[in-house]
Amino acid sequence: MTLSRSRIIVAAAFLLWLVHVGVCISLGANGRGPFLSDLIQFAIGGLLIGSLLLAADRSEGMARAFWRLAVFAYGLWMVAQGLGVYNDLARTPVVSWVTNLLFCFWFAPLAMALFLGPKHETGRIDAILVLDFVQAMLICVAAYVYFFYLPKSDTVLSHEVWAPYFGGYALVALAFVLRAIFAHSRDVRVLYGSMGLFLSLSGCVDALYYYGPGQNLKTGQWFDLLWSLLLVVPMIIATAWKQAEAPVIPLEPPRREKRIYAEISYLLYPVLVLIMSLRIAQQRLMLAALVVMLSFVSSSARMLVTQNRMMLAKEALRREASRDSLTSLWNHKAILEILERELVRSERDHQPVGVIMVDVDHFKNVNDSRGHAAGDAVLRIIASGIAAMVRPYDSVGRYGGEEFLIIAPGCGVGETWELAERVRTHVASCSIMAGGATVHVTLSLGVATGESSADLEKALSGADAALYRAKAAGRNRVEPSLGRAAGAGQGSASAAERDFWI
Ligand code: GH3
Ligand code: MG
Ligand code: MG
Repeated sequence: MTLSRSRIIVAAAFLLWLVHVGVCISLGANGRGPFLSDLIQFAIGGLLIGSLLLAADRSEGMARAFWRLAVFAYGLWMVAQGLGVYNDLARTPVVSWVTNLLFCFWFAPLAMALFLGPKHETGRIDAILVLDFVQAMLICVAAYVYFFYLPKSDTVLSHEVWAPYFGGYALVALAFVLRAIFAHSRDVRVLYGSMGLFLSLSGCVDALYYYGPGQNLKTGQWFDLLWSLLLVVPMIIATAWKQAEAPVIPLEPPRREKRIYAEISYLLYPVLVLIMSLRIAQQRLMLAALVVMLSFVSSSARMLVTQNRMMLAKEALRREASRDSLTSLWNHKAILEILERELVRSERDHQPVGVIMVDVDHFKNVNDSRGHAAGDAVLRIIASGIAAMVRPYDSVGRYGGEEFLIIAPGCGVGETWELAERVRTHVASCSIMAGGATVHVTLSLGVATGESSADLEKALSGADAALYRAKAAGRNRVEPSLGRAAGAGQGSASAAERDFWI
């Protein structure tokens, strides 16, 4: 579907190119010729962006990031071209200055694709990479203005000023070709190879204009046709692109080697920009202020992104350290800490804390008959079943293999027993689908309470002993610690009618 749309786009671009031929022959550099010529190129650029977006849609992983960067690059080109069209109507020095600058740097986002790795890209471009790149670009702009533009100080860039453009362009094209030559992945070879060849071709055409037969030509004359053809070439590359390899989904985020050096060089960027801008400010205050401002915004954004990531990582670590990976309940250590905290609180509030030790009955049979994976699934369902039965302020943890611990603040023996009974009947009434068949499981539960921090061991061992008695008494039952046996639901009296001792 997207492929047929891409083909329509290429056909439309060829039609526009034919119109461009017509405009060049009939008007050339006269009258509305330059304006129409630039306008047609702008329209072809729009179509090119469309085909790049479709290529990104069809791609995954690194290839998707690659096409998105291409969209970004040609987006800059479109801004430059749009300003160029405006300039054809009402020439203003500032606009032509910005247009020239953008035309010098439009391909920079494409250069960012050189840093994409086939193993580590998830299709999303890392925000920090983008911000570092913006800083690096600001340095390039400042250096460009400082070393090449200010000495010539003219509103129209002379040919010598274009030299660094060719230098940068040739380097990027060469890097693309080299990357393709040394790549092991077929996708990388195709993407970088075709783009490298295209950039080389495009650089040669530019050179012909500035140093070859195009030197004395004006906008609207035949050379413009070559440039509009250059927009069609990447469109064809994008349309022909077909991803062969499934992207590798990384388990870990990419490691940034020698991080400390990278961080230091990042700190140098704004300083460099500032130093160069001081000199630029003497002649072009607004430009210097703009560069410094953008550098400052980029530094601040980088700091915020880093800080936010650190906070998220800290939160994730904290969560991971206290959660059980299978059931997502509190893990052994965390649930004991919760019990300790609740017992301290109970001492202050003079409120008891209910403790319920839960064990799945004959769970080994589930593993033996349905397999360990089905056993895991059953454990997860039991865990969520227990969690659904407790109150919001109760806590449930995985105490061991198929044992769980429930902490119920503010519950005396009667309320804790009721809660345990609710959990027991709920799980016993559930039919769990696992390993292709229905599994019924029951729970045995031991109930105890504590009223001060000194009761921790006593409450745990009391609940454990009660659980042991529930098992001995036939399972699928709730037993209070050191009390008369509480029946297994069937015909047993309610907790309120019973006597309990701790
Ligand atoms: P009962 O408690 O009623 O006496 O019998 P049981 O079969 O449940 O008790 P036992 O202690 O003999 O076996 C517990 C089983 O729980 C054995 C072990 O393989 C299984 N188990 C423990 N942790 C896990 C787990 O994470 N996943 C799976 N699938 N099984 C587990
Ligand atoms: Mg068991
Ligand atoms: Mg057990």
